Amino acid sequence: MRQLIAGNWKMHGLSDQLPEIELMAACVASRPLHADVLLCVPATLISRAVQVAAGRLPMGGEDCHAEASGSFTGDVSAEMLKDAGATTVIVGHSERRRLHQETDAVVAAKALAGFRAGLSIIVCIGETQEQRSNGRALTSCASQLAGSLFSAPSKPAVTAIAYEPLWAIGSGHPPSSEQVTEMHQHIRSCLMTQFGGFGSAIRILYGGSVTSDNAAEILSIPEVGGLLIGGASLKADKFDAILGLT
Ligand code: PEP
Repeated sequence: MRQLIAGNWKMHGLSDQLPEIELMAACVASRPLHADVLLCVPATLISRAVQVAAGRLPMGGEDCHAEASGSFTGDVSAEMLKDAGATTVIVGHSERRRLHQETDAVVAAKALAGFRAGLSIIVCIGETQEQRSNGRALTSCASQLAGSLFSAPSKPAVTAIAYEPLWAIGSGHPPSSEQVTEMHQHIRSCLMTQFGGFGSAIRILYGGSVTSDNAAEILSIPEVGGLLIGGASLKADKFDAILGLT
């Protein structure tokens, strides 16, 4: 399966960052790529980012509401992201789960909303430091997966899982290759149990403190279907250096 290199800008990016996106798009278009690429940006930037990227770099949203429209002041629906030009939406990022009390059921409803709007869906899961220290990393991720994924009538309402251990996000300390391999194998087996044959087509990304220094090692792990990159996706040169490793 072709790997996916996805950036997540989180709550960063004003109009003065549009030239950076244009530069990223130019880098992407400048050579043959061996991976798919995606940049998830704040909803306020999507339509302008789509314009400057001019078809060279797909854009995604970072979250969506579970309803298509309604009295939800300040929220953004999956339809709105799609209308702005997004191809994909991230749901269940640990910052949403932790800071906005999003439960697995809420994440599942958001994933289904994205699916209905015609977006690709990246569902994030990951264990805390405490869960890892207590030997509960695998069970915690399995339980998040079971609760956060829906099967739409004909296929799973998810295109990628991002395994992002909370202790690795922004810490500068990614897990070892053995830990990534073990968890990705476990996630694959959960997906096969939940979705049968469809489970093999879902990419499993790794995210958390990825840089151009460690990306090659992580990408060489056979179970890794790509990367979700926070800090190192903010600058075109850093993001491009990682893309160049695929
Ligand atoms: C993230 O928050 O999705 C992430 C992976 O962040 P970072 O790469 O900065 O650790």
